[in-house]
Amino acid sequence: MNSTDQYQEIRDGVRALCAQYPDEYFRKVDEQRAYPEAFVNALTEAGWLAALIPQEYGGSGLGLTEASVIMEEINRCGGNSGACHGQMYNMGTLLRHGSEAQKREYLPKIASGKLRLQSMAVTEPTTGTDTTKLKTTAVRQGDRYVVNGQKVWISRLQHSDLMILLARTTPVNQVSRKSEGMSIFIVDLQQALGSGLSVRPIPNMVNHETNELFFDNLEIPAENLIGEEGRGFKYILDGLNAERTLIAAECIGDGYWFVERATRYANERIVFDRPIGKNQGVQFPIAEAYMEIEAANLMRFKACALFDAHQPCGAEANMAKHLAAKASWEAANACLQTHGGFGFACEFDVERKFRETRLYQVAPISTNLILSYIAEHVLGLPRSF
Ligand SMILES: Cc1cc2nc3c(=O)[nH]c(=O)nc-3n(C[C@H](O)[C@H](O)[C@H](O)COP(=O)(O)OP(=O)(O)OC[C@H]3O[C@@H](n4cnc5c(N)ncnc54)[C@H](O)[C@@H]3O)c2cc1C
Repeated sequence: MNSTDQYQEIRDGVRALCAQYPDEYFRKVDEQRAYPEAFVNALTEAGWLAALIPQEYGGSGLGLTEASVIMEEINRCGGNSGACHGQMYNMGTLLRHGSEAQKREYLPKIASGKLRLQSMAVTEPTTGTDTTKLKTTAVRQGDRYVVNGQKVWISRLQHSDLMILLARTTPVNQVSRKSEGMSIFIVDLQQALGSGLSVRPIPNMVNHETNELFFDNLEIPAENLIGEEGRGFKYILDGLNAERTLIAAECIGDGYWFVERATRYANERIVFDRPIGKNQGVQFPIAEAYMEIEAANLMRFKACALFDAHQPCGAEANMAKHLAAKASWEAANACLQTHGGFGFACEFDVERKFRETRLYQVAPISTNLILSYIAEHVLGLPRSF
């Protein structure tokens, strides 16, 4: 479990920082449904959240592999990267498709921590996973776009300065493919709130700040359009491989955390005058979960390597996310079961991590949609929708 790899320096650095934010910190933040502000600030100040920003814009110019190790370590140390992972992949959308002026304007401020780009608004209440049917519109009027519509489950907005918004700029009946005619914009949240954007927080199972958004004639300067008008859906898709791979790494981190805690407890807890870990009924689920995590980890590193080599990696990124989310959930179950009743006690942190890791079977993409992607786009089975 403690084997070293070529990323040991990054692991040690992130672990040292995380050691200052122990279980009690995250437990309290969870209990208060608060944002781990001090932790995210410390990560930003140490430069970890600017890993993927090129050096010329003030970041460290690392690859997705290294970024994924940072996210993995946060979760492996008992934290939850969900509070801050948005910046890692949202920034990539700006980097790949933004103009030079936009990159110069935003990236150095994101790297230094002056601005946060933690939010991306795609999902809508009435269309869900069927993204190309989204109903939020952005209509060009002179030097502005006027936005109307609604979004749901938009995370970290209240702890972000900027948000990437996907909206339809050409009605679906005027484009040849339904994936065309959508565009992405940078929204300055301080300007938007109260001037066309209103927000309703959604209380939910995990301590994840997420919201419903209502756009009522929100005006966005035309210069905030990212890339070309009408190509926004493609730009969002381009960013998803990074997002899925990073989430896979977080699940791997969770998985190791669960296995370590389960193993420790199984060695320590004495029932019937012997450690419960002596019973194979207790050992085997932990061993099985460990194997699944190790296997998923191989796919995660494969996806990272392909991404960093600028090779197609859609299949690997999706498979890594799916396998890792399944493995971490299996490990969570084994860990909770191993702890018996104490698994339900907040002070053991198992129930918190159990809730947190469950999310990844649903968001940012649900398991069925990954299975359908593999079936149809990789294996060539007939399209279902
Ligand atoms: C805590 C949280 C944070 C989130 N953060 C963000 C965010 O920051 N930004 C953002 O844009 N979105 C965010 N989301 C939204 C998330 O991406 C969606 O919830 C997810 O993509 C599923 O969409 P849905 O909830 O509309 O489910 P639906 O699309 O309504 O699907 C419901 C269920 O039906 C299944 N299903 C639907 N169609 C099919 C089909 N054709 N075949 C098989 N199964 C199908 C799905 O797999 C799913 O299990 C977040 C969600 C949560 C819960």
